[in-house]
Amino acid sequence: MQSYDITEWGKPLQKALRDTPVPTGTEVLVRVKYCGVCHSDVHIRDGYFDMGGGKKFHMSDRGMKPPVTMGHEPYGTVVAAGPEAGAVPIGQDRLVFPWTGCGKCARCLEGADNLCPTPRYLGIQRPGGYADHMLVPHPRYLVDATGVDPLYAPILACSGLTTYSAVNKLKPFPADEWILVMGAGGLGLMAVAMLRAMGHERIASCDIDPSKFGAARAAGAAETFNPADADTPAKLLALPGGVCGAVDLVGATQTAQVAMGALRKGGKYVIVGLYGGEIALSMVGTVQRALTVQGSYVGNVAELREVVALARSGKLKAIPVEKRAMSEISRTLDELKAGTVIGRVVAEIA
Ligand SMILES: [Zn+2]
Ligand SMILES: [Zn+2]
Repeated sequence: MQSYDITEWGKPLQKALRDTPVPTGTEVLVRVKYCGVCHSDVHIRDGYFDMGGGKKFHMSDRGMKPPVTMGHEPYGTVVAAGPEAGAVPIGQDRLVFPWTGCGKCARCLEGADNLCPTPRYLGIQRPGGYADHMLVPHPRYLVDATGVDPLYAPILACSGLTTYSAVNKLKPFPADEWILVMGAGGLGLMAVAMLRAMGHERIASCDIDPSKFGAARAAGAAETFNPADADTPAKLLALPGGVCGAVDLVGATQTAQVAMGALRKGGKYVIVGLYGGEIALSMVGTVQRALTVQGSYVGNVAELREVVALARSGKLKAIPVEKRAMSEISRTLDELKAGTVIGRVVAEIA
């Protein structure tokens, strides 16, 4: 099998050849057809996340060491299974849920693998989909996405699931109140589309790059704002009906300040983006405004099945997806880092 691996933090991925693994126990072997290229892979390739205040979270401190095969939006054909895997759809295409845990702890057993204290995510701690074959630890992580475009299905595993789970945390959202979507990159556009699929229309997309506003409106945003403009905070406060919630797909100091400043009393601010930064939180102000500040990390496998059902229903509008060859993953990561990608890129695993 071949893969594109991190062999040194911060450097371009390298093509590698090795023996195709043989599934054991409950494992399933998937021949990967497509894999979405996610912005978080930019940080993983760099070898760290910026935690704010000059602190860095190093992948090596999580026990990760090169070579690492990233790729956590895999879609492909089930080709083999271990002796304890049970009934497995050999020969059929499946979307792979990548946010797998240890499989034994309380969170994993209740189906919240994404909150496992010792995560074993596919494409992060375990080898992922920037490869022509990958092992999935259990068939329960295979999701039937029949009826969804196979080029679009991969991005549901991360950006779709992440935005669905985050937007759900803003519920209930009254129809006449506004929701801010901070960031109009791939995740931001998906969050807008997800809110529209749930029937909400008063969506304001905020990005420092006005060239993304066209795509945001096409995804369903009713208003667009530049958080760097001096008059944006006042304009947000003037939105008729008020702002009941904000979902931040950037996760920077500025987006947090603008979003939280705009919330009405009882409003919710959900952070998803991993840009990095920190804010000073007024204890009294948070109490008096009865604000909720919540982090949201990907989602669980049940939620992924709900996202796929939403996509299959036709309510979830597809965001722009560009197909590129597997050999272009490093260039794609460079472009994601530079912020020049509109929508999402899916690598075709030849
Ligand atoms: Zn991702
Ligand atoms: Zn666990």
